[in-house]
Amino acid sequence: MSAFLEYKEVIGEGDFVLAFIGRDNIKPIIVKKDDILNTRYGAFAHNSMIGEKYGSQITSLKGYGFIHLLHPTPELWTLSLPHRTQIVYTPDSSYIIQRLNITAGSRVIEAGTGSGSFTHSFARTLSKTGQLFTYEFHESRYQQAKAEFELHSLTNVIATCRDVCKKGFVIDGYESGCDADSIFLDLPSPWEAIAHLPQVISKSKRVGICCFSPCIEQVIKTAEALKNHGWSNIEMVEIAGRKWEARKEMIRDVSDVIGRLKDIKRRKEEGIEIRDKLQNQNQNQKVGEKRGNEDSNEKEQFVKKTRIEREEKGFNPFGKGLRIKEGDEAYNWKDISEPETEVKSHTSYLTFAFKNAPTKPIVNHQS
Ligand code: SAM
Repeated sequence: MSAFLEYKEVIGEGDFVLAFIGRDNIKPIIVKKDDILNTRYGAFAHNSMIGEKYGSQITSLKGYGFIHLLHPTPELWTLSLPHRTQIVYTPDSSYIIQRLNITAGSRVIEAGTGSGSFTHSFARTLSKTGQLFTYEFHESRYQQAKAEFELHSLTNVIATCRDVCKKGFVIDGYESGCDADSIFLDLPSPWEAIAHLPQVISKSKRVGICCFSPCIEQVIKTAEALKNHGWSNIEMVEIAGRKWEARKEMIRDVSDVIGRLKDIKRRKEEGIEIRDKLQNQNQNQKVGEKRGNEDSNEKEQFVKKTRIEREEKGFNPFGKGLRIKEGDEAYNWKDISEPETEVKSHTSYLTFAFKNAPTKPIVNHQS
């Protein structure tokens, strides 16, 4: 069973898990009895993962660190896979899939395979009824990708080691074509591969193509080749990703501000008082062990007193001091939705085009 094609609730031995250690640190593991996952937050026993639900949090052997055990998805795989090339990220892959109208049962051609990032997204969307034909001309990259697809049981993927610009897309067992309804080309010179497509694309369905190129010069050459080979509706799109943050913000009124200022003043005065006291005591060379203990007792009592006071008052310290959980019902909140100020920089231009199925000749039965 492929973790990318089917969903499973409980983790068992041999299952594929993405250990979420941090936003930029997701580690793919196969759960194996008595194995240990070592991370900067501690060591985690695979035994403690077995029987847990995907999404659970587990603690380290020493009990202070924790990680989450996530179900593999193409989106998470894209963030955790070993990079062997530039890859296609989710904002682009999701747009391309919907724009080409790729669904369960579609038949898709992809070149080159690269690190297999997009291959995983295609495989999930096509599901068990669809088929992906992926091509890579770099031998060791092809071998690595193939081994990964086998490990992940992507049974709907046929990987081929081939230079598609020189040798086209026809493979053994599919001599009359792959009946492909969608094409994705992530190659340095897609215009050279376009000429080979008529042998493999569907003759009965509308076919869509997307070429992924970082430079506008490549887009121009690609558009020309598409036009010369009978593709229409040629359009170039650039995805400029920007995240929107959705959160709650505390509503504060004038009395909160006054309370806050009073609190700062009080803490400052009390702090200065205790600091002066401690400084005087430290200056005194004869301060002994006993005195030192009294100082720290005094300090502790001050901290305790301030905390109790704040808790009793339920005073919102605007981020400092007592921490308030977002949405705490004791306070008033408003919903905020904000975009990131920075638009994520350009990855590639997407050139789309379509080809309609050849219309059948009209037969005049009267003559
Ligand atoms: N889309 C892939 C992903 O998401 O992981 C990344 C593809 S990577 C940018 C481009 C790949 O195309 C490289 O691995 C390269 O070796 C391969 N390639 C370049 N020219 C090729 C050709 N003529 N035939 C087959 N593969 C080719």
